[in-house]
Amino acid sequence: MPQHANGLHHHGYVERSTLSNALTAPERRMLDPDEVMHSPEEVAAWLAGTLRAAMGLTEDEVAFTDENQIWLTESRRGETIVTGLNDGPTITAEAIYDSNCECERQLKPVPAKKRR
Ligand SMILES: [Zn+2]
Repeated sequence: MPQHANGLHHHGYVERSTLSNALTAPERRMLDPDEVMHSPEEVAAWLAGTLRAAMGLTEDEVAFTDENQIWLTESRRGETIVTGLNDGPTITAEAIYDSNCECERQLKPVPAKKRR
């Protein structure tokens, strides 16, 4: 499976609020993500699926073909992507560096002993 090349992944958040009332990035980071995505393809698929569910439409009714290309490109660049509906929800795929994130359990604990 293709991975993000640059040591980051995306957290997906769905907020029941309009964009102007959505949480700020630091506030969002305090929350557990609704979804964790490890490749641009996963990010684009999650955004499309979540947006479609919010609209109550099927894949046949709305394909998001153009959006998909944009989401893939932005996600590959390591950008945070925000979309959603005018009346909410706000749907965010936030770029997170693996080294800043505890959802990646491969991180080793920091040694307690300090060495000079
Ligand atoms: Zn994470």
